[in-house]
This record gives sequence, C-alpha cells and structure tokens, in this order.
Amino acid sequence: MQQTFVQPEFRVKIDYDKCHKCGRCVQQCGWGVYDFNERPIPHDEKCRACHRCVTFCPAHCITIEKNTLAFRDNDNWSTDARKAVWKQSETGGVLLTSMGNPKPYERIFDKLVLDACQVTNPSIDPLREPMELRTYLGRKSDSVSAEPDGRGGYKLASSAGLERNVKLDVPIIFAPMSYGSVSLNVHRSLALAAQRCGILMNTGEGGLHEDLYPYQDNVIVQVASGRFGVSPEYLQRGAAIEIKIGQGAKPGIGGHLPGEKIDREVSATRMIPQGSDAISPAPHHDIYSIEDLRQLIYALKEASGYKPVGVKIAAVHNVAAIASGIVRAGADYIYLDGFRGGTGAAPAVIRDHIGIPVAIAVAAVDQRLRDEGIRNQASIIAAGSIRSSADAAKAIALGADVVAIGTASLLALGCHLCQSCHTGKCSWGITTQKPELTRRIDPEWGADRLTNLIHAWSHELQEILGALGVNAVESLRGSRERLRSIGLDEQTCRILGVKPAGL
Ligand code: SF4
Ligand code: SF4
Ligand code: SF4
Repeated sequence: MQQTFVQPEFRVKIDYDKCHKCGRCVQQCGWGVYDFNERPIPHDEKCRACHRCVTFCPAHCITIEKNTLAFRDNDNWSTDARKAVWKQSETGGVLLTSMGNPKPYERIFDKLVLDACQVTNPSIDPLREPMELRTYLGRKSDSVSAEPDGRGGYKLASSAGLERNVKLDVPIIFAPMSYGSVSLNVHRSLALAAQRCGILMNTGEGGLHEDLYPYQDNVIVQVASGRFGVSPEYLQRGAAIEIKIGQGAKPGIGGHLPGEKIDREVSATRMIPQGSDAISPAPHHDIYSIEDLRQLIYALKEASGYKPVGVKIAAVHNVAAIASGIVRAGADYIYLDGFRGGTGAAPAVIRDHIGIPVAIAVAAVDQRLRDEGIRNQASIIAAGSIRSSADAAKAIALGADVVAIGTASLLALGCHLCQSCHTGKCSWGITTQKPELTRRIDPEWGADRLTNLIHAWSHELQEILGALGVNAVESLRGSRERLRSIGLDEQTCRILGVKPAGL
C-alpha cells in the first residue's frame, strides 16, 4: 500500500482509568474509528471530530484533540494547502467537502451594528406591547383599491387585486435540503417544526416523500435542473414552488448524489432507479435566457393553480442585474444564497473560492429593485450562513423580507460541523441514509429542538425591534439607516448603503 504523506488531523484520547469498557463509543461512531479488544482502540486517521462519541460516553473519558504536528512556518504555503497537494497527488481527484465555506474572508455581519432608541425616541418593551413578526412571502400589488365598509370606514375592495402570498408567522424559514442528502427523519423534523412555527421548510431538489404530505401547506417544493420528483401532483402539493438555478456553496456547478445513497425510499421520492447516481446538470437545459425562465415560471404557475413561484440563485458578482431580470420574468420571490451557505457535497475549490457574501448581495439587489421601481414585485429571501437572530435582523435591515437557515437548523439537530456530510456516514444521523444512523433522529425530538430555536430567535428579533423603537418587522426591512459599520472600507459601506459608526 502506498504510504500517505497526510497525517491524522485529530487525536482520539481515552482515559482508560475512567473507561467502563462499555463499547458505546464503538457503536456511536459513524466512521468506524474504533476497534474493540477488551477496551476501545481508536484509529485516529478516520476521526472527523464530530464529537458523537464524546457526547455519549457515559464516563466522559474521551477527548478529541487537534494533531499538533508541527510544520515549518510558511505564510504562503499554509498547512492546509500542503495537505491538499499531498492528497491530490495520491488520488488524482477533486477534493470533496461539505457544509459552508470556512475560510477567513471578511464576515460582513460581524462588522455591522444596529441602532437603538435613547431619550427622545422611545424604545418599545416587547413583553408589554404587541410586536409583529408576521411576514408575507410573494409579489405585492402595485396598488389596492378600497371601498366603504358601510360603517363609515373603508375596507379592501373585493376586486382589490391582491397577489397570492404565503403567510409566515416569523420571517425565518428552513433552507432547502434534499431528502437523500439528509435523512427522512431530518425532513420529518423540519416539516413538523415548520407547521408548528407557521413557517416553511423546503424540499431541496430531491422530491417530497409521502410522509410529508400532511405538512404540504408548510413546504416549498423545489424544481432543480435534475427535475427529481417533479410531477403535477408534486407542484400542487407545495405552498410555493422554487426554481433552483444556483446554490451559494457551489455556484455554477451541478450536484451529484452517489448511487449508494439512493435507497428504495430515496429512489421512489426522486423517481429514479435505486442505486443510480443522481446527477443534476449545472444548467437547466431549458433555460438560456430570461425569456426561457419566464416560460418555466408561468408553466409552473399554470400547473400548480397559480401558486407563488420563486427563483433561487447563488450570490455572484452581477447579482443585482440578474435579480432584476428574474423579477421581470415574473418570479414572486428571489432566494439569494451567499457563499457561506452549506452543502451536502461540493468540490472544496468551488465552495471556498466562488461567490460573494449574502449581505452584499441583499443590499445590492434591494437597492437595484428600488431604483427600478419593482421592489414590491418580489420578496427577497437571504441565506448563506445566517448564524443568529442578529444576523437575521441585519439581513432584514439590509433589505431581505425573510431569512432561510440551513446549517443552523442542522446544528440544532446535533451537527458539529465536521464537514464530512459527503461521506454519508454522519454519526448524528443527519446526512446519511444508513438505517442504524438515521434512527438517531426522532422527528418529535428534532421538531422540538427546531421549534425552540425558531421561538428563541423570534423572541430575540422582537427584543431588537423594541430596542429600535419599531413594532413590526416590516418597519425594519431595508432600514439601512439603522445600521452602522465598524471597520468596513468605504466602498463596501457604499454598496451596503450603510454609514460608518459615529456618523
Ligand atoms: S464509551 Fe466511554 S466508557 Fe464506554 S468504552 Fe467508550 S470510552 Fe469507554
Ligand atoms: S469521528 Fe466522531 S464519533 Fe468517531 S471518534 Fe471521531 S469524534 Fe468520535
Ligand atoms: S451533518 Fe453530520 S456529517 Fe455533516 S457536518 Fe454535520 S455532523 Fe458532520
């Protein structure tokens, strides 16, 4: 066997004086790190630092440490760059990875701060006063007409011409994650939580399993280039339909779910043969222009009884002009996925070097649509590493109507960001189809955790709104004057439409 130059990234340390020799670590590790011979024996080179064994060891005697193997300092050739060259010269292949871009690019949200009321403009106490988080996803009419209500007031005219929208109780939804890349129990958890919270989950590109039919009013059904699971019935089941053009973690390339993840259930849901690779082409082969996109949008509206149709794109350099075209093509919302967004599998070189931050994309798109007088014609969903309610509030202040959370929702289910989803061996039962692993997520338990997360962030959003002295999330949308930057350069501030702190 060829000697690898790549040494283990982690060391698995066991305090054998405390160990009960119970073998639970062997059973918990999805990557087969442990052998057992009277006591657990770890093979460090297989460890992904997912912390499943650490969490479930009854004796708390396992520690995962970074391998502190020293490399000669070189500011140009980082250790990771050297390891990548060694791996590729051993395999000859593209380096695959998963979850979001971890590189130390500037994190825009961390350099923005929100305003607060003081003295003359009173803040609002959300514990004592109503605070509205309800949001409507979809195109808003250019104008509405009113008619007398017979009691001396007015009401919306019956012919007011309101567009069909999806009501969200809070401006946070779950990001698209396909059944196949995540387990069915993850989908069940997301769907149940979405129903409880009055929000939406999103099928991703893998179709809608029949177990999710009872939750269909809280589901966005996606139509991606592979058209997996797409049928007239599927389109009619969704609360809204989403055409997926791009994904923040891998703009400009397609997807590949290996055949070993296509078991009987995934194959039935995706409508492809069991065991065959599910390959989504990079482009939609029927979309080469805005006119083509328009045809697909209206075909989907026709097929679904005129439900809202959104378009998901990756945030790229020309995002504002692209978004303008999408709105003019008739989309009811634009989903902007920033370059920190997660993925079940992507080439590392694509994930880490293509795309732009969602904060920049949202500000550029919101401004462009305002300048063109068409901002009301589509909602904006911001995604791509929304890590907290503060990120959500800042994205909304920059111009988003709604934020979508993917990685955060998987963290709620136990994910430890080990970036190994593409292996299909997730110890936490999230990005795997192995029955012995998927059963680790009980949908009721998962839904409870996701519901708690949405409720917690909702309460925090209400606190933020109160501090800003507004009583509805609508009043925050696009209010960039309530943001200030700390340490962002002048050009970035100009694009964001945000002043430096102190001005
Ligand atoms: S789970 Fe902990 S106590 Fe049990 S065998 Fe493994 S290291 Fe020992
Ligand atoms: S991969 Fe996870 S479960 Fe396995 S040894 Fe490492 S930390 Fe423990
Ligand atoms: S979902 Fe599982 S495999 Fe993927 S990063 Fe999280 S813990 Fe690791």
